[in-house]
Amino acid sequence: MKTECNICHQKTELETGFWWGTGYISYFLAVVISLLNVIWFSPIFGWATIYSVWGFLLANAFVLMLSMPWLVRFSRVFYLSIFVRYDESFEKKS
Ligand SMILES: [Zn+2]
Repeated sequence: MKTECNICHQKTELETGFWWGTGYISYFLAVVISLLNVIWFSPIFGWATIYSVWGFLLANAFVLMLSMPWLVRFSRVFYLSIFVRYDESFEKKS
């Protein structure tokens, strides 16, 4: 990861261990995605047998693995946006 933005020179690591917090964001998003998987999985396959539980776990793991690159980057952007505000007048200043 770059240490600062190419355009506005905003530091990306605000303090030592800053990015640890993104783990909580990506965990929360993974839980949300898993709950959404329950919603589509239930009417299609149901929960009648133990195979459907294993099927859900496999399908959920597959969806989470596919969404992981997006999840990691989105959680970083989201976490940084909590601490660094967007400055609309940046281009006017420079
Ligand atoms: Zn920037």
